[in-house]
Amino acid sequence: MKITGDQQLIKKMNKSIVLETIRHRQPLSRADISAEIGLNKATVSSLVAELIDSRLVTEIGPGESSGGRKPTLLLFNKSAGFAIGVDIRVSDLLAVLVDLEGNVIREKSVPLTVFSPDSVLDQISKTIRLLGRRLPASPYGIVGIGIGVPGLVDEKSFVVSAPNLGWDHVDLAGALTKEFGNNIHIDNEANAGAIGEKLYGAGRDSQNLIYLSIGVGIGSGIIVGGELYRGISNFSGEVGHMTVAEDGPLCRCGNRGCWETLASEKALLDRASAIWQENTPSLDEILKNAKQGDPEAAGLLNEIGSQLGVGLANLVNILNPELIVIGNRLSLAGELYEEAMLDTIKNRSLSYHRKKTHVDFAKLGIRSTALGAASMPITSFLTDPDVSVEEAAK
Ligand SMILES: [Zn+2]
Repeated sequence: MKITGDQQLIKKMNKSIVLETIRHRQPLSRADISAEIGLNKATVSSLVAELIDSRLVTEIGPGESSGGRKPTLLLFNKSAGFAIGVDIRVSDLLAVLVDLEGNVIREKSVPLTVFSPDSVLDQISKTIRLLGRRLPASPYGIVGIGIGVPGLVDEKSFVVSAPNLGWDHVDLAGALTKEFGNNIHIDNEANAGAIGEKLYGAGRDSQNLIYLSIGVGIGSGIIVGGELYRGISNFSGEVGHMTVAEDGPLCRCGNRGCWETLASEKALLDRASAIWQENTPSLDEILKNAKQGDPEAAGLLNEIGSQLGVGLANLVNILNPELIVIGNRLSLAGELYEEAMLDTIKNRSLSYHRKKTHVDFAKLGIRSTALGAASMPITSFLTDPDVSVEEAAK
């Protein structure tokens, strides 16, 4: 019988669903899969046999029987391959090597002093090679690479602009493809962070969430119905440039009174330098002083908390989210401004809108973006598991 394109496609889709079911419900039997997704047992068995052949699924000892022969249970082979996620931050690169379930196997942070695209690309390539050296044996090796960029990345993975790096129109994916293959994903750092927290962190059980990346600026990744909301050009989520004070401080975007001029790490440091002038402490020192009860430092953090609350109240009213996850560097000092932030959200948002909204801090700490970036090539790889071992081993 000649298999038509449509049948091939349906088979591929079914196989992908079987694999997804094993990943999320493991350990389970073939009969469990059949009951869960409604495909007949013969079809499930044949798809499982192919997944075992391609070494993405393994069998383990028999499970509980409800009478009769005990069924063999299936497990997702999380060690069938690895992925690398890179977070390009303003002072360094954070790169992680993960297994197919997103567990960190290796990690490397590389300081950045020169920000030209060529120099950063060179550092990224070196770091990828370093992390990929002497991997544990696996059928697929490194299945792909994901990179989070602090800037605008279009739907074709093209970096349109990254002002903090001084980048304008950089084809990062194109440059890396020559050496590392086609499964390369570039995305905005807050989008990657949102995906990271959704898959592995604070947002696992939430379908509607806003991940807020508070670093030098403020960005966000918005997940609606379990999927990242990307907008028409992949540029959604630039909440840091929401105007919250008509005549406020001048922003790097040219506008005045953007939220990030009042509530980001940079806003905190700008205020600190206005208070302490030439004796301005570093961010770490300010946080340390605030923790030790220094009233000026604590007051500064309170102010940042209130300013964060102002923007968040707007987002709560517009999006009525289930969860807001505060991520990136300022999330590490959450306890210093949480109360002021929550009070402001409470005072300024509409009561019916905030009723079911929960605010949390990133569970992955500063790794949200790197892990989310690493998950992107894994998702592509697992959605099309028809890659043969031979093909991958070449
Ligand atoms: Zn702005």
